[in-house]
Amino acid sequence: LATHQKKLDAYLARFRAVGILNMIDGKDFESATTFETRSPVDDSLICNVARGGASDIDEAAKAAKAAFPAWAAMPGDKRKKLLHRVADLIVERAEEIALCECWDTGQAYRFMSKAALRGAENFRFFADLAPGARDGQSLPTTEHLNVTSRSPIGPVGVITPWNTPFMLSTWKIAPALAAGCTVVHKPAEFSPLTARLLAEICKEAGLPDGVLNLVNGFGEDAGKALTEHPDIKAIAFVGESKTGSMIMKQGADTLKRCHFELGGKNPVVVFEDADLDRALDAAIFMIYSLNGERCTSSSRLLVQESVADAFEAKLVERVNRIRIGHPLDPQTELGPLIHKTHFDKVTGYFEVARSDGAHIAAGGEATGGEGWFVKPTLFTGGKPSMRIAQEEIFGPVLTTLRFKDESEALSIANDIAYGLAGYVWTNDLTRALRFSDALEAGMIWVNSENVRYLPTPFGGVKASGIGRDGGDWSFDFYMEQKNVAFAL
Ligand code: NAD
Repeated sequence: LATHQKKLDAYLARFRAVGILNMIDGKDFESATTFETRSPVDDSLICNVARGGASDIDEAAKAAKAAFPAWAAMPGDKRKKLLHRVADLIVERAEEIALCECWDTGQAYRFMSKAALRGAENFRFFADLAPGARDGQSLPTTEHLNVTSRSPIGPVGVITPWNTPFMLSTWKIAPALAAGCTVVHKPAEFSPLTARLLAEICKEAGLPDGVLNLVNGFGEDAGKALTEHPDIKAIAFVGESKTGSMIMKQGADTLKRCHFELGGKNPVVVFEDADLDRALDAAIFMIYSLNGERCTSSSRLLVQESVADAFEAKLVERVNRIRIGHPLDPQTELGPLIHKTHFDKVTGYFEVARSDGAHIAAGGEATGGEGWFVKPTLFTGGKPSMRIAQEEIFGPVLTTLRFKDESEALSIANDIAYGLAGYVWTNDLTRALRFSDALEAGMIWVNSENVRYLPTPFGGVKASGIGRDGGDWSFDFYMEQKNVAFAL
C-alpha cells in the first residue's frame, strides 16, 4: 500500500499543479470554469478539472470535423499500426492508469490493474480489424451487379460513465477510430483522470490532431451540447437508462444515430442440480467485485427452494469474509463507492429493504469513518416486486429470491424493465438451452461468470440498451453502408 501511495503521489503531482485540461485539436484547453474531483477514499481534493460547456464542445466538434477526411482516408494498415502503438503505450503506463483509476473511483487495485490491460486489448482487437473495416460484398442479380461497401459515418460523440471509466472509454473509442471516425469524448464528471491519460497516450502514439478530442464537464452542459451538435453524426453512450432516454430526445433535432449501453438488474439463476460450489463462487464474484458498480453484475440471485437455505447460509459466511479496505492495497476486495451522491443512493436501499420487509442477512450499513465505504450487503426473504428486486442499486448489494420450478424462475427473471445479462446454473443441458432461449437478456452465461470474448456481441434488450458492440457489430454503428447497383 505504501509503495502504491508513493507512486500515485508522483503521478498526481502534475494534475495537482495544472488541473485536468481539455484536449482539443491536439492542444490543451482550459474552460471558463472548473470543478473539483475528489477521492472517494477520504473525500480529499485530487485536483481541479476544466468544466467544458457548449463553446468547448463546439471547438472540439469543429476539430473532429476538420480531422475527419484525412483520418477516414488513411489506409487501414496505417490506422492499425497507430492503434497498436496506443495499445503499447497503455501497457507501458498500465500501473499509472490503474493507480489513478483506483484513487479516482474507489475501485480495488486487484481489479483495476486488469482493467487497464483490457483497455490495451480493446485497442489491439479493433486495430486488427481496421484494414477490413470498409469491406463490403458483391450481390449479383441477372440485371445488376450490386456492390456494397461501408464508410465511416463522420465525427462521433462518446459519452462514458464513472464505473471502470478507462476500460469502457477504450471499448467505445477504439472501434470508432478503427472504423475511420474522429471522436469527441465527454467522460464522467466523477472520474476524469484516466480519460485525460488516454488522450495523452493517443497523442503520443501519433494520432493526428483533432482525431480524438477530450472535453470534460457535466452531463447537463457539455454532454447535452455534444448530443445536440449538428457536426456530430452519432452518439455512443454508456450510462443510466434514464440518461439514454434524455439523450435520445436531445439528439432528435439533428437525427442523431444512437448506441446505448444502459443499466441492468441481472439475474443469476441457480437450479438445484447445479454445481453449487462453483455457482456460489461466481455469484459472489459477479456482485461483490468492482464494488458492485458494474453493469453486468448479478444483483438478483434466484435460487431454487430445495437448496436455498444451505446456499444462503454459505453466502452469508462468504459475504462477511470480503475484505473491505483502501483501494490501493492489493489485498482489498471492496473499496469505497464512487461519490457521496451514489453512497446516499446505495445506503438508502438499506432502509427500503427494511421497510419492505426483506431480511438483511449481511451488511446493510456503512462502515463508518471517512470515505464512502459500505459493507457488502445481502438481502434475503425478498419478493420479486420489491424495489430492491426491481431497481438498479449499482453497489455491493445482492437480493435473493426463491423459486419453486423452472417456470417460476423464468417469470421472476423476466418480470423486470431491464435485460442486459443473465447467468444460469444447471447441469441439465436441455433446461439450460430452453431457459436461455426464453430469458430476456442480451448476453447469457451458462455455468460461468461473465467472461468477455471480444468478437461476440455485447449489449442489452429492453431498458438495458440499443445496439451491440464487439466485432463487426461496432463497425455497423460507426459506419454507413452504401449499395451501388451496376446495370449489366
Ligand atoms: P449517467 O447516465 O449518470 O452518466 C453517464 C454519462 O452521461 C456521464 O458522462 C454524464 O456526464 C453524462 N450525462 C448525464 N446527463 C447527460 C445528458 N443530459 N446529456 C448527455 N450526457 C449526459 O451514468 P453513471 O451514473 O455515470 O453510470 C452508471 C450507469 O451506467 C449504470 O446505470 C450502469 O448500469 C450503466 N452502465 C452500463 C454499461 C453497459 O455496458 N450496459 C456499462 C457501464 C455502466
